[in-house]
Amino acid sequence: MNAQHREGVVQQNLWRVHQLKLPLDHSDADLEALLCRRLRLAPAQLRRWQLVRRSVDARRRTAIQIVYSVDVELDAAPALHGRLARLAAKDTHLQPTPDTRYRPPLLPLDPAGLPQATQPPPLVVGAGPCGYFAALLLAQMGLRPVLLERGRDVKSRTADTFGFWRGTRPFDPESNAQFGEGGAGTFSDGKLYSQVSEPPAYQRKVLEELVASGANPEILTLHHPHIGTFKLATVVRGLRSRIEALGGTVRFESRVVRLLLDPSDRRITGVQLASGEQIASCHVLLAPGHSARDLFEALEQQGVALEAKPFAMGVRIEHPQALIDRARWGPAAGHPRLGPAEYKLVHHCSGEGLAGRSVWSFCMCPGGLVVGATSEAGMVVTNGMSQHSRNERNANSGLVVNISLADLEPYAARPGDPLAGVAFQRHWEGRAFALAGASYAAPSQNVAAFLGEASHTTDPVPASYQPGVSESDLAECLPDFVVAALREALPAFERRLPGYVSGGARLTAVETRTSSPLRIPRDPLTLESLNTPGLFPAGEGAGYAGGILSAAIDGIKVAEKVALALCPQRAISP
Ligand SMILES: Cc1cc2nc3c(=O)[nH]c(=O)nc-3n(C[C@H](O)[C@H](O)[C@H](O)COP(=O)(O)OP(=O)(O)OC[C@H]3O[C@@H](n4cnc5c(N)ncnc54)[C@H](O)[C@@H]3O)c2cc1C
Repeated sequence: MNAQHREGVVQQNLWRVHQLKLPLDHSDADLEALLCRRLRLAPAQLRRWQLVRRSVDARRRTAIQIVYSVDVELDAAPALHGRLARLAAKDTHLQPTPDTRYRPPLLPLDPAGLPQATQPPPLVVGAGPCGYFAALLLAQMGLRPVLLERGRDVKSRTADTFGFWRGTRPFDPESNAQFGEGGAGTFSDGKLYSQVSEPPAYQRKVLEELVASGANPEILTLHHPHIGTFKLATVVRGLRSRIEALGGTVRFESRVVRLLLDPSDRRITGVQLASGEQIASCHVLLAPGHSARDLFEALEQQGVALEAKPFAMGVRIEHPQALIDRARWGPAAGHPRLGPAEYKLVHHCSGEGLAGRSVWSFCMCPGGLVVGATSEAGMVVTNGMSQHSRNERNANSGLVVNISLADLEPYAARPGDPLAGVAFQRHWEGRAFALAGASYAAPSQNVAAFLGEASHTTDPVPASYQPGVSESDLAECLPDFVVAALREALPAFERRLPGYVSGGARLTAVETRTSSPLRIPRDPLTLESLNTPGLFPAGEGAGYAGGILSAAIDGIKVAEKVALALCPQRAISP
């Protein structure tokens, strides 16, 4: 038997078994024995098994368990499968293994057979996870996409961004934590899970393509997989090589400044770059991320349908990772099977004037750093990142409060202004920049001081934020309702995670780029812009994703529509 064997496994003789729970200290043999007991099999009947998912059940801190889901391959004997089917009727944790293979929308390219598209190649704007996965799918369909990215290749971008953080390079508005090859999440923890349950075939496609591009195969099985900053850079380069090997083109330092539209029907005919160059295409997949404010302004001027959307803002909070480990894992903290602990906290406010407000932890980075994530000069934005090892001293997480459309009204240039959220973000990012001395340092404060507690002389958590912090009163760079909501939530979080406040924590502000402040609405069937045919908005910037995995999946889904629009004659009927 081979625990990790993936090849040669056929779906029809596979059974999936969930909720196989074992104590922290166990071996593969223990798991096999448990599997046989659960399926009432003799060990010889188990041909092969393969890990599908591994997670941790820490609800009882004194008896933490590892929980496995496993696919088991059995002989094709009908009697055996009949017996398992009867068992499955009574056991909700046993089922025939579902077929989650991704199925492309087009027949394979056949140079001798089907007629090829005569139109210019599709354009993809933005080399983030959405744009890269869209371009990869289009390239795999033989459609030779051209990908346009405003920032630099990941090696140059890494030098620019880390140089800015370390104070050795000036801030570069075209090459930073948001802009450049790999997109916003390149210097991140690289978490590959989302709050929303994504279709399994698309999830599997993304994870398998990441592995084929250089990611560790463990991401295929971990419940909460993550890649980590430096490995992400390698994976991003791997994705680029694969797109190019399939005939796609990736162009850096190619900022799109406007769309080219046919004046008679607004149909897209191409894009114009900042250099003045015009590139023709009837199919433009727009994946510029949530920070492409200049492009959003250009789209608004060109009359593309846009609408403001709610998002969230707040601060980053840092604790010693050891404190979080003790609070989550208890006496098992430090066990090699557990690694650094994560947490997820939510508080629904009930205080005066806070009805409808919630505070939640966002993008938690175990063993990581808080980093400067602005993409515009004169602004301070925080976010978090970790290396694959997650071995920095501090845990950090966003602590954010929901921002509604009503909150944006005072920032609107006119009623219904779709860019009101951008104006809101700029206002508070600019306040944070000025408050901390207009040097790209971030305002930062001990949590006890933020809560107005008298005894906060000791500060066990030095801020990790790069490029540096300035001790400040954070109430001066946050809206009053955000301050009030955070002050209500923090003591509630202390009750859930002892030490969260009393163990010492540091807040650094402001966290504004949680998701896009606007949406580019699209037709639910064709996924095209509502009023600009040929424009396919996608990913986080268009309001359809909120993380690396969901952005990549949206890129694939939108690329499928582009492929079908370009080559209807190759469509595989559903
Ligand atoms: C520091 C940090 C840490 C994060 N950590 C995580 C995490 O651990 N897990 C997770 O799931 N998510 C994380 N995120 C969020 C995640 O990165 C985003 O949700 C995701 O990258 C969105 O993908 P996207 O492709 O839609 O947009 P983006 O990744 O933002 O990519 C958009 C690309 O378009 C380019 N672009 C913009 N304007 C133009 C233009 N006019 N012309 C040409 N190109 C343009 C940009 O340079 C950028 O490369 C993090 C984000 C940051 C900033």
